[in-house]
Amino acid sequence: MAATGDAQPAKHQEVGHKSLLQSDALYQYILETSVYPREPESMKELREVTAKHPWNLMTTSADEGQFLNLLLKLINAKNTMEIGVYTGYSLLSTALALPEDGKILALDINRENYEIGLPIIEKAGVAHKIDFREGPALPLLDQMVDDVTFHGSFDFIFVDADKDNYLNYHKRLIDLVKIAGVAHKIDFREGPALPLLDQMVDDVTFHGSFDFIFVDADKDNYLNYHKRLIDLVKIGGVIGYDNTLWNGSLVAPPDAPLRKYVRYYRDFVLELNKALAADSRVEICQLPVGDGITLCRRIS
Ligand code: SAM
Ligand code: CA
Repeated sequence: MAATGDAQPAKHQEVGHKSLLQSDALYQYILETSVYPREPESMKELREVTAKHPWNLMTTSADEGQFLNLLLKLINAKNTMEIGVYTGYSLLSTALALPEDGKILALDINRENYEIGLPIIEKAGVAHKIDFREGPALPLLDQMVDDVTFHGSFDFIFVDADKDNYLNYHKRLIDLVKIAGVAHKIDFREGPALPLLDQMVDDVTFHGSFDFIFVDADKDNYLNYHKRLIDLVKIGGVIGYDNTLWNGSLVAPPDAPLRKYVRYYRDFVLELNKALAADSRVEICQLPVGDGITLCRRIS
């Protein structure tokens, strides 16, 4: 593990801190660099209201909220379900991600907590997408399983409720969620990427033609790639940059013993993270998965 200053006090006192990251400094870095600067005002307001509630530990964290929001846009989700609403942080992040005619069936045994968040959801102009049902989820799921018109009808289902029922939920939800299909072809090209990207940028037929681009090559070229890929990816498409936490070295003190290549590429990764967070052409989500991956959805 990288030296991340264990002597420092834990800075984040946020509710909903459920990250598995071992370093508080690294989690704080993600929140401050990639999450809070891009958090919609309404989600911030709901997060702050929820923080004052006695059960605030139940809330979805801001980084997970950002992840859900991006994921739902990526899969073009329209019809979704949420089991376990509490004050509605994940519900609001879902509602903001869905198109105007999107729908969320939201289930919770407790309406009172939902009503804490409801005025903020209404103010955000997304309440019309939500169909909140008070009561235990299982009987309602049983009703839906009995009605074949519900089979395969949900693009996305978020379960965040009573863990002792998860297997019971899964048995029913597997019928209610859509079946996915994937297919792809590989066209392998040997050689440095940059000249090939330059050729493609010069040919407008490639512009906006990629749904997804995964970058996991020479980190000192990531920003050069980004300058070109932004033209090649579709509006609404995604570029994924891998290793954006760079062995945790980003928050290491200056005298930390780092391997030579880690130290060499570190400044390039720091520069990339700053540039992506400031790039208004993309929505971003930096995930602490593996060595960190930053997803960028092109919006303009
Ligand atoms: N996703 C929420 C958020 O972003 O704040 C947090 C949900 S909280 C962890 C769990 C919720 O599950 C509580 O609001 C609780 O009332 C609800 N719950 C517990 N048992 C349930 C059941 N059988 N059916 C539906 N909801 C239930
Ligand atoms: Ca949760």
